Amino acid sequence: MKIAQVIVDVPHKQVNQTFDYLVPERLLDMLQPGMRVIVPFGPRKIMGFVLEIGDRSEFKRLKEIEDVLDLTPVLTEELLELGQWLADETLSIYITAYQAMLPQVLKAKYKKELVRTEGAILAEALELLFAGRDVISYEEFEHAPIRLSMLQKEIEAGNVTVDYIVRSKATKKKVTMIKPAREVHLLEEAYMDLPKIAVKQKQILAYFIEYPTEIQQTKLLKSLETNRATLKALLDKGMLQEFQVEIYRNPYDEESFARTEPLKLTEQQQQAILPIKQSIQDHMHDVFLVHGITGSGKTEIYLQAIQDVLDKGQEAIVLVPEISLTPQMVRRFKGRFGSRVAVLHSALSSGEKYDEWRKVLRKEVQVVVGARSAVFAPFENLGIIIIDEEHETSYKQEDQPRYHARDVAIHRGRSHQCPVVLGSATPTLESYARANKGVYKLATLDQRTNQQAMPDVEIVDMRKELHEGNRSMFSRALMDKMEQTIARGEQVVLLLNRRGYSTFVMCRDCGHVKECPHCDIALTYHKNSNLLKCHYCAYEEPMPLNCPECNSDLIRYFGTGTQRVEESLTQLMPDARVIRMDVDTTRKKGAHEKLLNQFSNRQAEILLGTQMIAKGLDFENVTLVGVLTADSMLHLPDFRSSEKTFQLLTQVSGRAGRHQLPGEVIVQTYTPEHYSIEMAAAYNFTAFYQYEMRLRRTFQYPPYVFLVLITASHPEHVQAVQATQRIVQLLHQVIGSDTVVLGPTPSPIARIKNRYRYQCMIKYKKEPHLATNIRKILEQIEREQRSKDLLVTVDMQPYQLM
Ligand code: ADP
Ligand code: ZN
Ligand code: ZN
Repeated sequence: MKIAQVIVDVPHKQVNQTFDYLVPERLLDMLQPGMRVIVPFGPRKIMGFVLEIGDRSEFKRLKEIEDVLDLTPVLTEELLELGQWLADETLSIYITAYQAMLPQVLKAKYKKELVRTEGAILAEALELLFAGRDVISYEEFEHAPIRLSMLQKEIEAGNVTVDYIVRSKATKKKVTMIKPAREVHLLEEAYMDLPKIAVKQKQILAYFIEYPTEIQQTKLLKSLETNRATLKALLDKGMLQEFQVEIYRNPYDEESFARTEPLKLTEQQQQAILPIKQSIQDHMHDVFLVHGITGSGKTEIYLQAIQDVLDKGQEAIVLVPEISLTPQMVRRFKGRFGSRVAVLHSALSSGEKYDEWRKVLRKEVQVVVGARSAVFAPFENLGIIIIDEEHETSYKQEDQPRYHARDVAIHRGRSHQCPVVLGSATPTLESYARANKGVYKLATLDQRTNQQAMPDVEIVDMRKELHEGNRSMFSRALMDKMEQTIARGEQVVLLLNRRGYSTFVMCRDCGHVKECPHCDIALTYHKNSNLLKCHYCAYEEPMPLNCPECNSDLIRYFGTGTQRVEESLTQLMPDARVIRMDVDTTRKKGAHEKLLNQFSNRQAEILLGTQMIAKGLDFENVTLVGVLTADSMLHLPDFRSSEKTFQLLTQVSGRAGRHQLPGEVIVQTYTPEHYSIEMAAAYNFTAFYQYEMRLRRTFQYPPYVFLVLITASHPEHVQAVQATQRIVQLLHQVIGSDTVVLGPTPSPIARIKNRYRYQCMIKYKKEPHLATNIRKILEQIEREQRSKDLLVTVDMQPYQLM
């Protein structure tokens, strides 16, 4: 008797455990941990993951597993363990952790089909079932009296593959292939018989006489510069024949990537890569922080480290932020490692994503380049994990399970005993502090490989502009520079720094921003009550009519949209062509890339956009970068707002003058004296780090403490408040004396979709049992609560504080 422990797909706190099921006879010889099964659960039949198979259970009268969904495990042993760890760390339930590791296709109920591979010889029973066909539905197999283990063996031998039928346009990509239909000497005869004027037909025949094998139609037509009509004539004559083959939905055409060779490393690169190579050789886990300015050659370090890993027969994961996953970025990896690279990108269709993921599972690739979730790539022999732009907040998932890819990478690095490399021009304070303490190994690259200086940054005081009568959103300096740049035939990038939500209050006259006296955080304006509130500690005060600093009545809340900037730009510079990139213009698939291509082809002089344009762009002809409102992120109710401003300004400055032409940067601000702006303009990371660390210590923020954010929401205001109060009360019973609980306070976005949101924040240095305690508190709240409408979310180490 075999018993399987199954995690079932019931996303509910009470069922966060395994259930025992009997393995029926027909699955005995094939079921393995990591496969998905269908099991009876109460009156329903649901999906589950097999964690373990053993031969005992504490329970009597077990139900049987109903069916199996996979013939090869979709989660490796290591990923099964990782999922449990992840769920525990993030206070999620196991099933969501496992779902997060798999491509979308495997989450929904898609139909399967069996496809036999070319020339495969199958076991007789299967051969009979296929009956000469290449594809059969999975149902047909299920109805046949054939053991699953037989099919499983064929799959392992590569004779049959399981495909998911994804109902989307991109499901299956087929290409037309052309091959000779006659033997070569017959082609030669036909060639002779063709009239002289049939030049193109003769050319095609000549091609096949020389290469009597199949070729993709598009390639044939392109290389011989002919068309389908000419080809059709030969097909009609029976000289050639065409057929369709299914190809991987490969979004990146391999051959379009010119192969690159490793560059000779600079002295600094050499210094940085040496210990990483050592760690690869020694099969040792270590975390490296590569702090290198833009253009210092970090990517080349990654590439050469990966080469070492591949030479050892191991595999590599490279994480890059979603918005940096541009074709330019992909090209660098494909250019070096060709078809050994899979790319996991959210812009791929679910079918494409599945294809790429399956290449990993089948060990057809050794390198994965992808956004956050690529950290779960099911490699079994990892030799390195690289996280580029490690400071990017998109590495934190803002949804269940709320994990940070960096933590997952380090956990996997430990399991595989391999190095984890974090790279950035502006590392997070958390990582840099760890590197300073020796927990991570630090490498610093402060020179560009081309020895060019970073572009000059000019800070423009927008208060002065106002005083001198310029009420527009463009300073005179920026206008002049834009005109000059465009006149020289060069291009401009304009950044409207606007992240999500800006409701802080600022005096346009003197730049004064109202802050909480207790938290060093900008107060948030609440329109309904006309109050300014602190979202950390619940301090509030009425909205002032005049600036408390300078008494001006130009004190108001802040924020401008890209569309308004575009309109005013078109008025001021009617001849300049503008490409606007924001969430609205890039919603459609591929739009992002299309706009960038247009700009790169110089179909516009100005690229105007939000954060999404700040990274990864590498345009030779951009020599001026303008930041319209450096302040707007500075005063978000978030203790990281200075850090984020510093990072963004540094990143965006790196965009100008990457190539031969020198670049310039203009930063417009109402608070030119703010340290994060001054220090970014001076490219002084160390000064910024030291200054910011002092503040973090004074106000007790990370990296000096850890944070947990608990948010309760409910359609009724009272209920949300009461629940949060109760949580705070219960927390006080379990926390240590050094731990602080702030709140309850309304969330910065106090109501979303008619649900009132309240929050509390835990600041702690050491709480070994905090996760377990919070779990218990949530269970208690759930028991006490009569209302089913209460929703409580817990974010361990939050990045989004709204
Ligand atoms: P980063 O990732 O740090 O911004 P990149 O890796 O993009 O820097 O390098 C910037 C430029 O320098 C790229 O064009 C790259 O090809 C080039 N480069 C990198 N390393 C070297 C080297 N050792 N010698 C010459 N050029 C290099
Ligand atoms: Zn003022
Ligand atoms: Zn406060």
